[in-house]
Amino acid sequence: MKCIVCGKESEFKICGECLIEREKIVDIDKFILEICSKCNSIKIGREWLKIELEKALEKAILDNLRHSHDFEVRGIRIQDRFAILRGILNGDLVEISVPIRYSIHRISCPRCSRESGGYYESIIQIRAVKRPLRKEEIERAKEIVEKAIRESEGEKDFISKFEFNKNGIDVYFGSRKLGEKVSRRIADELGGRIFESKKLHKKIDGRDSYRFTFLVRLPEYEEMDIVVKKDTLYVVKNARTGKGIDLLSGKYANVLNTEVAVKKSSFGWGIITNLDETSAEVMTEKGEILIVERPFGAEIGKEVYVFEYKNKKYAFPTDL
Ligand SMILES: [Zn+2]
Ligand SMILES: [Zn+2]
Repeated sequence: MKCIVCGKESEFKICGECLIEREKIVDIDKFILEICSKCNSIKIGREWLKIELEKALEKAILDNLRHSHDFEVRGIRIQDRFAILRGILNGDLVEISVPIRYSIHRISCPRCSRESGGYYESIIQIRAVKRPLRKEEIERAKEIVEKAIRESEGEKDFISKFEFNKNGIDVYFGSRKLGEKVSRRIADELGGRIFESKKLHKKIDGRDSYRFTFLVRLPEYEEMDIVVKKDTLYVVKNARTGKGIDLLSGKYANVLNTEVAVKKSSFGWGIITNLDETSAEVMTEKGEILIVERPFGAEIGKEVYVFEYKNKKYAFPTDL
């Protein structure tokens, strides 16, 4: 068959190229693009996405495109105020240029409106047992929070307040899920425990809506502190993971959530001057001679830390 207009060989009465000249193949309805004036996310369908304006326009054009059934759209690009649609029409690969008519409405997306309205569903309270938070802990917690916010895109994934107080830090999150996730990361990284509680906030559409509190309690101990667990004294080797070593047997154990028996800041210092099967003789920095239970790793001449617990003296090698 030949095209009735140009006469070229075609499977159709009129070829694609000639058809574009004679009929309106494609039209794009006028549309509105809603862009958040605060975070620049763009509404696509029912979602707000952080995408480039051009990508958003392409999607909006495809949503508002009306075209003849004979035209099979293969691609789209935008040039100034025109959409150039590439596709197959009556056997020909054609490009059709169509004007785009749209207006941009700058509004506040749900996430930004909630954020600026102080909305929150969960609070993380970071506290340390019997001590203030350390500077490194505060820094690390802030990093974890910031990273989680960067990685999350949910409508409620924002912080509405970050508050320092004399007890620690309170962070208010727009979503419960994010608060839960961040509290778990902080507890994992800083070696704490999470206590979760919820409070009835209000009823939404007849359903109870709760506010959640994730209390992250960081341990009192630091590395090298002495903790006690089931009457055994352990030296804390890793405060984050809660690993301790029995100073007499050298056995490792989990000492998470144990009480501090002796802070390392109160240790004295000495040298092992004599040893037998069960005991060690230590000369302290003050020139005292002590007899203590033989610690793990004891050798004559080794430097030891010395401390007292429940009226009994102990020593253990400084390199334990
Ligand atoms: Zn033709
Ligand atoms: Zn926004």
